[in-house]
Amino acid sequence: AVEASIPQQLREAWRKLAACEFQGKEQFQREVVRHVETTLARSMYNCDDAAAYAGTALALRDKLVIGWNKTQQNQTLQDQKRVYYLSLEFLMGRALDNAMLNTQVKDVARDGIAELGFRIEDVINQEHDAALGNGGLGRLAACFLDGLATLNYPGWGYGLRYRYGIFKQEIVDGYQVEVPDYWLDFNPWEFPRPDVAVDVMFYGYVKKDTDSDGKTIIVWEGGEIVQAIAYDVPVPGFDTSTTNNLRLWSSKPASGEFDFQKFNSGDYEGSIRDQQRAETISAVLYPNDNISAGKELRLKQQYFWVAASLHDIVRRFKKTHRPWSQFPDQVAIQLNDTHPTLAIVELQRILIDVEHIPWDQAWEIVTATFGYTNHTVLPEALEKWSVPLMQHLLPRHLQIIYDINLFFLQKVERMFPKDREMLTRVSIIEESQPQVLRMAYLAIIGSHKVNGVAELHSDLIKATIFKDFVAIYGPDKFANVTNGITPRRWLHQANPKLSDLIASKLGGYEFLKELSQLERLRPFIDDKEFRREWMEIKLSNKIRLAKYIRDTTGISVNPHALFDIQVKRIHEYKRQQMNIFGVIDRYLNLKAMTSEERKKVVPRASIFGGKAAPGYWMAKTIIRLINAVGEVVNKDKDIGDLLKVVFIEDYNVSKAELIIPASDISEHISTAGTEASGTSNMKFVLNGGLIIGTCDGANIEITREIGDENIFLLGNLAEDVEDLRHRHRYGQVEMDPKLRAVCDEIEKGTFGDPSVYEGLISSLTTGCDYYLVSDDFSSYLTTQDLVDEAYRDKDGWATKCINSVASMGFFSADRCINEYADMIWNVEPLVPVK
Ligand code: PLP
Repeated sequence: AVEASIPQQLREAWRKLAACEFQGKEQFQREVVRHVETTLARSMYNCDDAAAYAGTALALRDKLVIGWNKTQQNQTLQDQKRVYYLSLEFLMGRALDNAMLNTQVKDVARDGIAELGFRIEDVINQEHDAALGNGGLGRLAACFLDGLATLNYPGWGYGLRYRYGIFKQEIVDGYQVEVPDYWLDFNPWEFPRPDVAVDVMFYGYVKKDTDSDGKTIIVWEGGEIVQAIAYDVPVPGFDTSTTNNLRLWSSKPASGEFDFQKFNSGDYEGSIRDQQRAETISAVLYPNDNISAGKELRLKQQYFWVAASLHDIVRRFKKTHRPWSQFPDQVAIQLNDTHPTLAIVELQRILIDVEHIPWDQAWEIVTATFGYTNHTVLPEALEKWSVPLMQHLLPRHLQIIYDINLFFLQKVERMFPKDREMLTRVSIIEESQPQVLRMAYLAIIGSHKVNGVAELHSDLIKATIFKDFVAIYGPDKFANVTNGITPRRWLHQANPKLSDLIASKLGGYEFLKELSQLERLRPFIDDKEFRREWMEIKLSNKIRLAKYIRDTTGISVNPHALFDIQVKRIHEYKRQQMNIFGVIDRYLNLKAMTSEERKKVVPRASIFGGKAAPGYWMAKTIIRLINAVGEVVNKDKDIGDLLKVVFIEDYNVSKAELIIPASDISEHISTAGTEASGTSNMKFVLNGGLIIGTCDGANIEITREIGDENIFLLGNLAEDVEDLRHRHRYGQVEMDPKLRAVCDEIEKGTFGDPSVYEGLISSLTTGCDYYLVSDDFSSYLTTQDLVDEAYRDKDGWATKCINSVASMGFFSADRCINEYADMIWNVEPLVPVK
């Protein structure tokens, strides 16, 4: 039984006072004003939008916290299996609007704040994005938290509380410039838990010792200790009282670690510098998407976060006084990519070194606990840590990894006694100079289930990078869970008008919890009035974006033009370069037309957005080219509204919410076999936009769900990629003539100093065109012509859009969460508390 400090007879009074909901508009207003006056110490004479935001957020937060407390108490009392989602990235975006919508108080808040003199939209826009992630992987983690809470699963996220999230992108003279994102100035959504502190050790040495019974034990000691402090963020589910927890760790010097020697000898600054080293661990998010840089500080971040999280999970388990054998019945841990793989080693270390459980028994517990999600097959993204670095930083963990590897290789040798090469291939240790640890292999060996994130991707990992492991463990260890998105944020919040229209036809907002209900839209497809309203909403979303573009870039975009959008991290494999080459081709064609011919053209706005990793020179060159093309095209009098090229600065979650509902077509054109899933593809279609894309990632399943008449597919297939690359390497491929013409134009200097783009162009020629732009270019252009053609038929276009939305139920994050829960975690939802 859980002890409560309040005596039984007084608990009812407590419960009444701790109400989760506002009793009407007036109470909401009173709370906002109270917070502005007392928490912020400001008055109506200096309450600006920022203060109104703070007051609103704090008023709402007070309510959220009550539900959060109740949920946590209920989860403890129910004492069922919990799931922990370990992710180095949580790209949460803004919290206020989402919290208002999920707890269904937005109408009250809108009216209440209006009577105090503010527009709710302006208040919402004051919030700084919580941008603790790079792209798809981090946003997936955020969507999963929303799904877990909405479905009432006892599920927590564990991550790092970076002081600096992903950098802010500024465009200066067409180039990306990175500006630090110090986002913690005012963050009402986090609760510091100074009482939840964990000491984490690095470095040190390992020695053998004997315990009081005379048994040999292994001791790791003498290292540097850093303290992890928990910061908790409430995650409210939609239309449920369940509010889960995201626990983020912040690093600080451990108490007692202060170097008095230095201090007393007068080196005050030196002693502070040592302290600052501890704080550096959680200082900054590594700004790389799908690239592993292999830096020592990154490894420190990984262990710091993993050690603190496991300590916390183990502490919670031990409170139940269950035997260790029941750990996997109470705990499921999901590894979001290989970043938290050391959790496997850390749990084994705790079990054998601290709890003194025999190796085999411990290993059984470990493997039953973990599941591993693979997010990429790109070689540059697969994590490999140098053995000497691991030896230095985590000597005991390296020993354990050696033992895990030894036992694993012994097993493989028994299975394949004559295959020495197999042992070399599957060993965790790669025999390079220096030796490196292949973290994905360790993650597979230490988990009971490995999943990819879309069907093609899950098939590819089995056929390529993990082929040997399928032979060793059998195919059942490998599964697929196709990614999904939360319809709460990505439809209801981002596109309220469309959400309301759908609700008016389906008789309420149930579809936000059961997305397959969108199917019931189908009977309305022939309803003229419905289609008109549908397309009017699209237009109003385009006007909203056009206004934003005008306000921020000065470029005026005709809202009736076809909005063609590619927003995502800039990466060669995602092929923004193919898109901009296509734009140049379009420009050249327009220039060559007579004015009569131009009249027949479908006007187009090509809109780009996305960050490049700061060290990714080629990606930065692509951004430069996009901006340079925009400079030329946008002021060309011959072209006018027929083509506009826009680069939206600093793409992030809140921008995505503005941009995605405004697309007519969006581009998901990665080289086949390189994009594991993609999730923005799903968001665009759910918002009534169509896709031009390759047969890659989740595009394939989107096609299956919505029908191939509703998607514009192009390009070569994943199965052909290897052969095509081979032909490029042996100089057997002629560059596509239209692509040649585009390159010539760039080299002529039409878009400024051509030397800037030399690398980009040589990647297609002497660089052997690794991403096969030349091979897909002609198909890309033809498909874009089909897009124009289809867009001329307004009725046909509307039919495609509505039909597609009706078929998007499969891509709800709720479906993913239920699949993980059934197939990997074996956890059940709880009955939410009242
Ligand atoms: N970055 C942000 C800010 C996002 O919101 C998303 C998804 O919506 C992504 C990146 C991932 O985009 P994609 O799936 O196109 O790579």
